[in-house]
Order: sequence, then C-alpha cells, then structure tokens
Amino acid sequence: MQHFPIFVALAGRRVVLSGGGDAAIAKLRLLLKTEANLTVITPAPAKEIEAWEADGKLRIIRRAMEPGDATCAVLFYAADEDEAEDARTVALARADGALTNTVDNLQDSQFITPAIVDRDPVTVAIGTEGAAPVLARAIKADLEERLPTQLGALARIGKAFRKMADALPMGRKRRDFWADYYFNQGTRAIAEGEDAVRPALETLLEQHLNTQDKVGHVSFVGGGPGDPELLTLKARNALDTADVVIHDRLISSEILELARREAILIDAGKEGFGPSMKQEDINALIVKHAKAGAQVVRLKSGDPTVFGRLDEELDACNDAGIGWNIVPGITAASASVASIGQSLTRRGRNASVRFLTGHDMKGFADHDWKILARSGEVAAIYMGKKAARFIQGRLIMHGADPATPVTIIENASRADQRVLPTTLANLAHDIAEADLSGPALTLYGLAPRSVDAVLSQIKTQEFA
Ligand code: SAH
Repeated sequence: MQHFPIFVALAGRRVVLSGGGDAAIAKLRLLLKTEANLTVITPAPAKEIEAWEADGKLRIIRRAMEPGDATCAVLFYAADEDEAEDARTVALARADGALTNTVDNLQDSQFITPAIVDRDPVTVAIGTEGAAPVLARAIKADLEERLPTQLGALARIGKAFRKMADALPMGRKRRDFWADYYFNQGTRAIAEGEDAVRPALETLLEQHLNTQDKVGHVSFVGGGPGDPELLTLKARNALDTADVVIHDRLISSEILELARREAILIDAGKEGFGPSMKQEDINALIVKHAKAGAQVVRLKSGDPTVFGRLDEELDACNDAGIGWNIVPGITAASASVASIGQSLTRRGRNASVRFLTGHDMKGFADHDWKILARSGEVAAIYMGKKAARFIQGRLIMHGADPATPVTIIENASRADQRVLPTTLANLAHDIAEADLSGPALTLYGLAPRSVDAVLSQIKTQEFA
C-alpha cells in the first residue's frame, strides 16, 4: 500500500487551492462539502467560483500565488492545469508547510483525493493508487446504487441515540440492536420520514432490552498448519459465523481473512520462550466474550488437541458454565510428513509413532529416550528447534544410531516451506546453520522419500 487512507479533520482549518478553471471547480465542489476554511488563488476565477465567494463559502485572492499564501494551510491543491505553474505553486506551498496535491499528477502529489461515496457521516473512500481510475469509478457507481440515500440520515439519527443504546450490554447484544436498526427497522421507519426514526429506535431498544440474552459458546478450532486449503469445512463454517476469533501467533493471515467481516480478531500470540499472553489471561478472555453472549472461535494452529494447552481452556469454560466443542485440524506432523512423501507409520518399520515436545514449562522435556533410540522408531518433535542439541545428546547416549535420518520441516504447507534432511549426528549443527525463523517440526527416523530411495540404492550396491 503506497497511500495510507485517513480521514482528515478540516473544520476551521485552512485549505488553499491555486487555479480558477475546470480542475479547480471539480476539486472545490468536493472541498465545499467540508467545513474547511477555503482560499482560492487565481487571477481569473470562473463564474462558479465567484458565486461561491459571493455566498461566503470561500475567499478569492485575485492574483498568482506568492510566498506565504499557504501559511498555516493543512492541504494545498495545485489546479492551474499548467505544468510549470503547478510546479511553482507546489514549491511555494511546501515551503509554507502544507501537504500538496497536483491535480492529475500522481507522481508529484504528496496526497491524493480518493473517489468518494458520500452518505455523510458515512463516507466511503475508494483508491486505486492511480492504477485503475476506471475501476474506482465502477466501484463508486456500484456503491452509489447499493447504499440507500437515507443511510446518512440513519447514521446521524443513530449517532444521537448511541448513549441510550449503551443500556444494552457491550458485544453481541448491542451489535444485534444496531444491525436490526440499520438493516431492518431503521430503513423501514425512514421511508415514512425522518421524524418516524427516533420513535422506532425507542421501540426497538425496548424490544432488545427485553429479549433473552443470547447464549455464548466457544469452538476450539484447528487452524491447520497454514495452508488455508487445509482447513476443514467445519473450521470454515465456524469462522464464518464467529463474533470473536481469539487466535494463536502461528495462524496465517490468509486464514484470518476468512473470519466473518464483523468478527473481532484477538491475537493471543504465544511464542516459545518469548513474550506471550499468560494462559490465565487467555482463559479469562475466552470466558469474558462467551459470557457476553458471543460465538467465540478459539483458533489454534494445527490440531487443537496437540500441544495446544486445550485442557486448561476447556476447564475454564466448564468452570464458567460455558458450552464448547472441538473442531479437529491437521496437525503439523501430518502436513510435514506429507511434504516429504512418507508415512508416519509403516508396516515392518514402526507400528507406533510418538508426538514429542522439545520443551515444556520446566525447560527441555524429558522422554523415554531408551525406547526412541531403538532402530525404526519414528517421532514428530514439536517445538524442537532450541532443544535439538539436548535431544541429539540424549538419544545418542541411549544408543541411537548417529546415522538415523532426521528431517526438519519449516513452515510446512506454506509457500515458504523448507525441508532440511539431516542425520541424528548432524541435527544440532544443521539446525543452527539453517537459521530457521518459522515454526519447524523435526521428524525423527524419517528422510524425504527421494533421499531415502537414493540411500537404499547405495546400500544395495554396497552389499552387492
Ligand atoms: N497444535 C499445533 C502444535 C502447536 S505447538 C499442531 O497440531 O500442529 C507449535 C509447534 O508446532 C511449533 O513449534 C512447530 O514445531 C509446530 N508447527 C506448527 N505449525 C507448523 C508448520 N506449519 N510447520 C512446521 N511446524 C509447525
């Protein structure tokens, strides 16, 4: 995004425009909708501009621009439609400290004016950074058609009623009230005239105050390893209807995009060894929103039941008497093993597979290293980057073959996925060398299928 859209408060502030022809008139028409203090500088003002001056809507300085003319101006428009004159006036305005726009010249403009759909106080600004003015016009036309002309009036009356509506508890109840107003009752009432709106609002508030509280609910949803196509349909539906989405740091932005547009997104980002939101605070957050009547989606990476501290959150819900359900997701081990073309279990090799964590709350996690050290064992090690040297040492100490294949998969299923095949002997060294920055899973006892095939071929040749 090269241009950041903002709404500038112009009431009582100076806006200066140099020019007196058609380009000036077009910009002034827009600017006259604001409460800015407008000054036009031009030796030859068009009739329309003079009419605005006569109505007291702006001031005209009847000469070419001079240094100091834009003193204290927030915005300056160069609208003389003459390249040299525009460059000159822009230089003067910048020296006076104003932000400048040169009409029809994106390159030289410090700010640009978007296409506007005006339903004051509702204003929609459309920008394409100059890439496609045709597209901006089409979107504007579409919105002009779609947004009722009385939307502005509805919003104005609604705004004056906000304090009254605060009688409703914050969150879903209040949102339901306003949605009912804007999309049902309000539009109906305003068809009878603006005077009918306020009484309609009062009746509506009464109704909403008397309806039973909506019951909140928490879905613990698996967000999968990152690729949005690896979400389940259930996960998508839950995101579609969520009021609040409380998500982990590992959840990709593409997946968050799928949340209902009005949903509140809360990042409860937890980073191994790093700064994080305390588990109790996350529990409290979930309970708070569900108690307010929200449909909460607690979105966890991979599968929520795998190293997700799910139980603590379920207990918190139970203690608060809140209903919940679990939507399973594709865990990092499944995505990682798929990416190297292997199986987690294989007849004749391993009849079981272990999901291990590299560290727990106390530090590096201990496991039954002796069993793991046996030949043919397979384990998916989560959060294993920092513990690599520890795991390597323990396994070798318990008799594991240093040549055991190990594969690290970083960002499994994502566009920036990296696969790093190594061996137990080289694990710590190779992980350090690889400088991994994304989430990484260590598959112990597995090599990518292609490498595996090459290795077994070499072995066959050696024995032949
Ligand atoms: N519940 C998650 C695991 C959370 S623990 C799941 O089922 O996948 C976080 C760890 O998961 C990370 O440290 C990393 O080891 C692993 N992980 C999560 N997403 C990953 C991905 N896209 N690629 C590789 N590892 C991933």
